[in-house]
Amino acid sequence: MTDVVVIGAGAVGLPSAYYLAQEGMKVTLVDKEAAPAQGSLKAAIGGVRATHSEPAKIAICQDSLRIFSTWKEKVGTEIGWKRGGYCFPVYSPQDEALLKSILSVQHQHNLRIDWLDADGIKKVVPGINTDGLIGGTLSIDDGQASPLLFASSLTKECKELGVDFRFGETVEKILARDDRVVGVKTDKENIVADYVLNAAGSQATLIAATVDVPVPVSPDSHEAGVSMPIEHFLEPLVVDIRPGPEGKTANFYFGQTHDGSIIFCYTPSPKILGEDRRCTSEFLPTITRRLLNIIPRLKHLVIRRLWRGVYPMTPDGFPIVGRTPSVSGFYLAVGLCGQGFMMGPGLARNIAHYITTGKTYVATDLFASLSPQRDFTRQEALE
Ligand SMILES: Cc1cc2nc3c(=O)[nH]c(=O)nc-3n(C[C@H](O)[C@H](O)[C@H](O)COP(=O)(O)OP(=O)(O)OC[C@H]3O[C@@H](n4cnc5c(N)ncnc54)[C@H](O)[C@@H]3O)c2cc1C
Repeated sequence: MTDVVVIGAGAVGLPSAYYLAQEGMKVTLVDKEAAPAQGSLKAAIGGVRATHSEPAKIAICQDSLRIFSTWKEKVGTEIGWKRGGYCFPVYSPQDEALLKSILSVQHQHNLRIDWLDADGIKKVVPGINTDGLIGGTLSIDDGQASPLLFASSLTKECKELGVDFRFGETVEKILARDDRVVGVKTDKENIVADYVLNAAGSQATLIAATVDVPVPVSPDSHEAGVSMPIEHFLEPLVVDIRPGPEGKTANFYFGQTHDGSIIFCYTPSPKILGEDRRCTSEFLPTITRRLLNIIPRLKHLVIRRLWRGVYPMTPDGFPIVGRTPSVSGFYLAVGLCGQGFMMGPGLARNIAHYITTGKTYVATDLFASLSPQRDFTRQEALE
């Protein structure tokens, strides 16, 4: 018997187990893989920003930023945190208008983000291609951390708080009686619990369907890579929101990690739907062209590793968080799209508090805007 079963030791499940245990709950965390972070979390490139255009994401990521930036001091372990900011360079009047249009919302939420002219961008992104560069935004409190170091540190902290880890065990079914959750059935046993939190990433829909709870999450695949370390020259994570001239990519982002590696990723266009995690032969040549187009001096970079993972997408690009209306005690923290690492800790702290007390740290209306019962028609100005 446990108080709460968390399904999935990923970007949301791991910190949720940690905060639930901190709230005094007896927590069992089940993951089908042999170790933590083997789903999408290990594919993330570690970007963390609060500079979104929607208040709920801003508030949750502000909480995450506080957690990432103070983690080493509080917990004593290195997670590769680097407060280098996020920079969105701009090459077209349309993109300039888009980014400037969301600055006022961002300033209302006390985000330190400013518009810089082309000279300002050249200073923060040394070597940037200035051909057509108009300017861009820089948000100095955003940053980067290592998903694997953070997962490892969270696992250690969870163990110290008494979280019972069940690796290599697959949840097959949610168990409910009289519309109330009573636990989960795994491929090994039934685990009896008062509460269940579904944090199973791209697999969340299948699990929720076992108690007829509709969860519109679908996998969308993305590739990434990392270079050998080079001398530190780049502070911010850079997001190039232009579609690629080759017609295969939407936005493209890259940064230099705390240990000097260049880490990079793009959004394929059109989207590649599904769970296929095999690297494609076109990723490296395509991203190389995008990288050298924006920072030509990176031409001697040595690439160390490429990988492919999935974004657990929702129809409106916002996560699905809260209690399920039809099965009491069954909660969701799923559909984190391409932002699960940055939202993970803030979301986890809130859902843990919500499960144990019915209250959240972020404003109630913001939390409610992520509810499973919303209509999914909203569209974000800048994803
Ligand atoms: C290339 C790439 C780059 C990215 N970069 C960033 C970034 O810079 N910043 C950012 O914020 N986000 C980034 N992301 C997105 C981020 O990785 C995801 O949003 C996040 O990992 C989703 O978190 P999750 O907890 O929902 O799912 P996951 O991290 O996938 O965790 C779900 C867990 O559930 C387990 N599970 C599934 N089914 C079952 C079952 N039946 N029984 C037991 N366990 C189960 C899985 O094994 C997995 O461990 C990136 C993603 C990719 C692919």
